[in-house]
Amino acid sequence: MIVGLTGGIGSGKSTILEYFKSFGVPVYIADDEAKKLMNNSKIIQRKLIKLFGEEAYVNGTLNRPYLASKIFNDKTLLSKMNAVVHPKVGAHFKQWLNNQDAEYVIKEVAIIFENNLQNQYNYIITVVADEDLRTQRVMKRDNVSKEKVKAIMKNQWSDEDKIAKSDFVIVNNNLQEAKKQALNIHNMLLKILKR
Ligand code: ADP
Repeated sequence: MIVGLTGGIGSGKSTILEYFKSFGVPVYIADDEAKKLMNNSKIIQRKLIKLFGEEAYVNGTLNRPYLASKIFNDKTLLSKMNAVVHPKVGAHFKQWLNNQDAEYVIKEVAIIFENNLQNQYNYIITVVADEDLRTQRVMKRDNVSKEKVKAIMKNQWSDEDKIAKSDFVIVNNNLQEAKKQALNIHNMLLKILKR
């Protein structure tokens, strides 16, 4: 069984994922794997250079700031980049999944509903937190301005819209409370699997 874990920037996805990992659940972080593949796959490298030019890589390493600046205001280019990277991540995930031997796995994906990918999951957990808290967290974590965080948030669905389509919600305004909710959901999922 595949459970998707999503949530807006700064909601605490990575933090919550660590809790599930500590409960023994195998976890897959789609963004991290995408980054690895963009750095290591020769096919992706070739296609991205075709799309973005030679500057896409510096000494064989992905030039992330350059790509980010290119795609931020260009949805067409973003779709083209996704069309190169997403199928590769999908194949890598399938391979990873085949090697897992657990009741269920969790795949962390920042954007599920925005890309209409909810059907790829048996259940979806959405992590939410107050917008002010999320903004403060990201400003501190990434050392970026408030405006930058708000601009990223503008491209993501609101918590309300995500909650409406989710099976489980974790409110992460407080770590201890969030961990309790994660454990409850874990136990519920195990119960569902035993039915
Ligand atoms: P996401 O993966 O959703 O972007 P993170 O898990 O990276 O979010 O959390 C963003 C930042 O906020 C991290 O630096 C994390 O340590 C911190 N953080 C997460 N949850 C809480 C919380 N409940 N209280 C305080 N800080 C938190």
